Amino acid sequence: MRLWIRNPLGIVADKAGGGIIVDGAIIAELVPAGGSPALPVDAVFDASRHVVLPGLINTHHHFYQTLTRAHPAAIDRELFPWLTALYPLWARLTPDDLRLAVRVALTELLLSGCTMAADHHYLYPKGLENAVDIAVEEARALGIRATISRGSMNLSQKDGGLPPDSVVQDEETILTDSERVLSLFHDPAPGSMIQIALAPCSPFSVTPALMKKSAELAARFDAPLHTHLAETRDEDAYCLEVYGKRPLDLLEETGWMRPKTWLAHGVHFSCEECEKLGAAGVGVCHCPTSNGVLASGFCRTRELEAAGAPLGLGVDGSASNDGSNLMEELRHALLINRLRYESAAAVTARDVIRWATEGSARCLGRSDIGRIAPGMQADLALFCLDELRFSGAHDPVAALVLCGANRADRVMVAGAWRVIDGAVPGLDLAALRRSHGMAAKRYA
Ligand SMILES: [Zn+2]
Repeated sequence: MRLWIRNPLGIVADKAGGGIIVDGAIIAELVPAGGSPALPVDAVFDASRHVVLPGLINTHHHFYQTLTRAHPAAIDRELFPWLTALYPLWARLTPDDLRLAVRVALTELLLSGCTMAADHHYLYPKGLENAVDIAVEEARALGIRATISRGSMNLSQKDGGLPPDSVVQDEETILTDSERVLSLFHDPAPGSMIQIALAPCSPFSVTPALMKKSAELAARFDAPLHTHLAETRDEDAYCLEVYGKRPLDLLEETGWMRPKTWLAHGVHFSCEECEKLGAAGVGVCHCPTSNGVLASGFCRTRELEAAGAPLGLGVDGSASNDGSNLMEELRHALLINRLRYESAAAVTARDVIRWATEGSARCLGRSDIGRIAPGMQADLALFCLDELRFSGAHDPVAALVLCGANRADRVMVAGAWRVIDGAVPGLDLAALRRSHGMAAKRYA
């Protein structure tokens, strides 16, 4: 089946004014403006109302947190007090509620133009041992590509960590389950729909020994590594006090400085640390909305990119954003970075689109997605400019960011339409909203 997505209103790809030929799961050909395909086609989709982007890729989220958005216990707090307010509520999480939370987060992401999402699940109260299995099942059901991070915490309050004892596991349990889910689900091949990353949560909730053993296990499976790092000044102070070193030095000592490692936030890196990350090929997921909500600070995006570090975007999840809309995140990234660098030219609409696509793909260690080019996976996000907010817009690509696009009209993953006319086919959105809302009441 060969489909011609014909004559888009705008497109982020070189020499593709006439559109794209999708053959199965792959982009087969780009058609120049006014041209026709070299290959015969079976079907045509008229894209004259659509701006076509590579599918957006979200590189940091905690799907379960959709159950505790805008929670009175946590709003208006910074990270450490925000976490200590929420841990006891999250300790109640059940498999059924997690399933609804994942479905909501993935649906929100899909509807915002996202074709691939990374989740970081580090919370394992009793009874929730199959959290990764649930996330994998839900991603498969919706047809979205995913990197599900088997997160972990093994340093609780009794050992000087931040989380309570009820949400952590011991090192052996964590490593045994990590190996189980890697063996079951991790597919490192090109075109892969599901990958598993190992993701000890943060320097104040895991031991350096677990960081080291997770890195060794991930290397055996050719799997990515993920953690929160350099998010707050409190984290810097904790690492200096407990370990006598900065967070990045801790990372280096535990064997994490390699490609296929990506870090959430990366707010408090020095210029010298940015250089180190670039030289090692370690990626950073920039989460501007979460950093703004928790008042964590500004990420050195320009310095990281200049040093060669992969730079992606993430909504973070979903009690510190508190939405899961990746297209909105692009707008926030543009605004926050212009403020940070006090320059309108420092970051453009096309820069933030690049971060959310090619940059995010590099963070996740993927070279088969993130760009519209022959041979790449056919992951696409199509936006209409029909809403009043776009009326009068001249540059259709810049308009997505500057006028505030937040809902895709069509989303294609591996050549299959997963969003049609702004909806997920077969999904009863009202019923999902109802059952998720009911479930969230249990975390009041
Ligand atoms: Zn996070």
